[in-house]
Amino acid sequence: MRDRITPLLTEEQIRTRVREMGRRLAADYVGKDLVMVGLLNGVFPFFADLARATELDFEVSFMQVASYGGGLESTGEVHILKDLDKSIQGRDALVVEDIVDTGLTLHKVRNLLLDREPASLRICTLLDKPSRRKVEVPVDYVGFTIEDHFVVGYGLDYNGKLRNLPYVGVFHP
Ligand code: 5GP
Ligand code: MG
Ligand code: MG
Repeated sequence: MRDRITPLLTEEQIRTRVREMGRRLAADYVGKDLVMVGLLNGVFPFFADLARATELDFEVSFMQVASYGGGLESTGEVHILKDLDKSIQGRDALVVEDIVDTGLTLHKVRNLLLDREPASLRICTLLDKPSRRKVEVPVDYVGFTIEDHFVVGYGLDYNGKLRNLPYVGVFHP
């Protein structure tokens, strides 16, 4: 499986960028009632690194959603597999995602969370593939903008595997 991967972002590049993002978040959220909302499963390495790079006091909570359909692309039909264990009403929510592709998942998640009336709601993603967008979604923090490749590693999977790779690579099925 690993022989079908071309490296795209090294561990070092990711580490440097995540530290920068953490500093930026710390500056933007100082004095706020921040809840970092991680979207499982793909976000787990990024979330852990970003949270530790953000030197503030905040809460974390996780959500897991699934798109109907399966395959390599999402469909826009999102259902909740695991909901947040905390209220975000009146609080500053930051949704953290591994990658924004068509934008369909985040579009739905965003609307769902906005219904809960947070004081603010922003979106942070490690990777962005803007050329693939099907629906406009405001992404406030982006780690890396990438071309239209199917990528794996650092949380991103192929058939559930390869999430544990410490770097990001392009997968050639
Ligand atoms: P969207 O709804 O924006 O199309 O898709 C978001 C989700 O699709 C991501 O959270 C991720 O799970 C999956 N996805 C999109 N692009 C890629 C990719 O290049 N590699 C992997 N492994 N998953 C992707
Ligand atoms: Mg994801
Ligand atoms: Mg996936």
